[in-house]
This record gives sequence, C-alpha cells and structure tokens, in this order.
Amino acid sequence: MTDRAPAGGDTNEALFEQAQRVIPGGVNSPVRAFRSVGGTPYFVAEAAGPFAYDVEGRRYIDYVQSYGPGILGHAHPAVTAAVQQAAARGTSYGAPTRNEVLMAAEMCDRVEGLEMVRLTNSGTEAVMSAVRLARGVTARPTVVKFAGCYHGHSDALLVAGGSGVAQQGLAGSEGVTAGAVADTIVAPYNVVPELDESVAVVCVEPVAANMGLVAPQPGFLQGLRHACDEVGALLLFDEVITGFRLCRGGAAQWFGVQPDIWCFGKVIGGGLPVGAFGASREIMSGLAPLGGVYQAGTLSGNPLATAAGLAALELLTDDAYQQLEATAITLQEALEAAFEATGVTARTSKPSGAGGTVLQDADGAPGVTAVVPRVGSLLGLFFTEEPPRNFDEARRAADNGMYPRFFHGMLRRGVAFAPGAYEAIFVSLAHTEAEIEATATAAAETAHEMAENPA
Ligand SMILES: *Cc1c(COP(=O)(O)O)cnc(C)c1O
Repeated sequence: MTDRAPAGGDTNEALFEQAQRVIPGGVNSPVRAFRSVGGTPYFVAEAAGPFAYDVEGRRYIDYVQSYGPGILGHAHPAVTAAVQQAAARGTSYGAPTRNEVLMAAEMCDRVEGLEMVRLTNSGTEAVMSAVRLARGVTARPTVVKFAGCYHGHSDALLVAGGSGVAQQGLAGSEGVTAGAVADTIVAPYNVVPELDESVAVVCVEPVAANMGLVAPQPGFLQGLRHACDEVGALLLFDEVITGFRLCRGGAAQWFGVQPDIWCFGKVIGGGLPVGAFGASREIMSGLAPLGGVYQAGTLSGNPLATAAGLAALELLTDDAYQQLEATAITLQEALEAAFEATGVTARTSKPSGAGGTVLQDADGAPGVTAVVPRVGSLLGLFFTEEPPRNFDEARRAADNGMYPRFFHGMLRRGVAFAPGAYEAIFVSLAHTEAEIEATATAAAETAHEMAENPA
C-alpha cells in the first residue's frame, strides 16, 4: 500500500489554479511555490509518519517535514492526542496556563545558561523581539547578521536572507525602508567580523540551514563569542532550526559555545505555530512587564502549541537524537553513493546552455558531482565539489541548474525534498530503513538520469 484514493476529486493542477486566484502565488509562504524548480506544487491532503499524501492520493517520502517541526514525523499519536485533549479544554484564554510554565522550565532545563524564556507564535517574532530586547538592554543600535542566514521576515533582518529570499534572487525585500535596515550590517558567514561599540547584537544561525546546509568552520562560533565580549555586544544564536534538533541542548551544547540570547521555533511547537526567545534572568528582565522593552502576543503560549510542544520534547531523549543522527548518516551515505556511482573521477566543470553545468570525468564521460554536508541530523545537498562555506559559494552551487532536475526526478519517484536548493533536508524519527532504502534507489535512478541527459 503506497498511494491512496484521491481526496474529494481535486487535482493539484485545479487547486493550484484556484489558489492562484485567491492567494498570491497560490501559497502562504513563498518557499512552497515551485517557482525555482518549475511545475505545480502538490497539495497535501494528509500526512502520517515519514509520508505525505497529496490530494490525488500520491504518496511521498517526506524530507520537508514542515521545514523542521516534523522531527517526530507527521501526526505522531502522542502529539495528536495532546492537541485533541487540549482543544477540548479551550483553545486560548488570554490568561497564563500551567503548560506555559512547564514548557519554559523544560527548555531552561535542557539548555545551559538559558534561565528565562518568552513564547511567541513564530520564529520571526522570536528573533524580531530578541533583537529589540538586545537593543534595549545594551542601548546600542547596530545589528550584525550574516549573508545567507535567515532570521524570519521582520524588516531589519530581511537583508541578504537565505531560504525563500535567496530562491527569488532578492537582496532583501521591497517595502523595507532604508531606515529600517540602516542599523543592520551584513557580514560573510564563517568570517569573524570586526565589531565596534555601536553593536548591540550579532545574530547567527550556528549551523546555517537556510542557504542549503553550511556548517560553521572550526573556531567561527568561538570567534564570534570572543569578538562580542571584546566590545560588549550580545551574541544571539538563532536556533529556530538547530534548537532541540542537534541534541538536547541544541547548537550551543553541540559546539560548546554559549550565546547571550537564544531563539527557538519549529521543533518546539510539535507542528503548531510557535517561537521562543530566552536568555539569562538579567537580560530577560529588560522585557515588559519587568523592564522597558515591550513585547506581547494575543495567542502567545497558546494552549494547543504548548501541549504539542511538551509532548514532542518529552519524546526527544538522548536515544532519540542518536537514532535521528544514525538515520541522517544512512541517508547521507546513500545520496553520496548514488552520485559517485555516476562515474565521476576527475572533475572538470564546463558550463553548458540554460544555466546548467555538465560535469565530466577525464575521458569525457558525463557524471554528476554532489556533496552532502551534514551536522548531526541536519543534511544539505549541493551539486558542486566542495561543501560551500558561505553564501557566495552556496549560491554558485544552488543556482547551477542541477537542483531542479534532482528535485523533479525524486518527486516523480515519490520522494519529496524541498522545492528549492536553499533548504535543508529534514529526516524524522519516523523515517525507517525502508524509507531510506527507497530514497537511495530513487536517488541512484535520478543521478543516472541526470548524468545520461545533461541539461
Ligand atoms: C524558519 C526560521 C525562522 C523563522 O521562523 P518562522 O516560524 O517561519 O517565522 C527564523 N530563523 C531561522 C533560522 C529559521 O529557520
């Protein structure tokens, strides 16, 4: 049993047609549109474990997993039950609840140095609020970010963003005034920038996962810590992807570097809308109602989100993280083997038409070169020879025309990766040997197809 009976007689094509009439681009978040890979998005009717099913009944082994929240796989029974029970008790009160306290305590318990957190409704809100707090407590204006890192879609942080911003080839966004970004400085990833005493906060994805997957070079995060300390700037780890995914304590624990402020999202909501930011008691005391930095939310700490988040965190034990990483290693090896088997030995790259790149070995036999960077359970895929270290290198690899062919080759074979070369690959605890093996087979066939028919 793989595919299912179509739901309600809709086709992807018909729904997309209708969607484009009433929703800009037919999607509620640009990365979901297939603009950078071409074609029609599949509309999901339901999902379970490692699988998503579209409205036509087609089954996909899903490595999108909602771009991170699906760490347990879709519709995990524990999360579903928690949400159902919570919903029956009311969906929002506008008064504090016990689960908010449990959620905050659980996060502080896992992350060393994290003493207080505030919950928000999205990662965007978390980082936006954290930056305001950093500026408030330091009484300084400047924010430093790194090209290719995505910190949500608030005005000040949208410059040189990864993810959908990169997919659209945008430097930033129209509608953002020069004033809104006047105090934002963009630096290249993996180089410790020079700071001065105007800097309130340095924002970084400790593993960049919105320009494909780009690992921090040894010493980069430590270097940032040191540079911030020298000038009294705060260091902010945007752990919206890495938090509670790499290990119990997230990237800070993984790399042994403690930031001043953490931002979280994705995993901690169990698939419901959520975000959080936190820091030491001293820094967080700058926040209203204790301090003068205002931040709020009608639905923040929502009962459904905290119920789902607590249920998810409870299952994310050390054993679970080991299993997740083992799954990622198996997938990494399978993808690498698929492309190695296309027969590339010596790699010379020669540009061909339509933005594509044909990679040939010394005898001129076509092959496809790919690298699969990995940090813990996080994976990336670039059609290039060396793992990119920054946005320029990532962009060169992402825009060479290879990814859309890989994407569609896999999708045709029932395996869904993100419809854009700038996204990470998300394995879940629900992906078993069988799904990884099926993915390996599909990847081998797709790699072969790509090598046989160069763009
Ligand atoms: C997804 C993401 C965000 C934004 O989170 P939303 O919930 O989509 O607003 C911020 N930072 C990083 C690193 C992310 O991956």
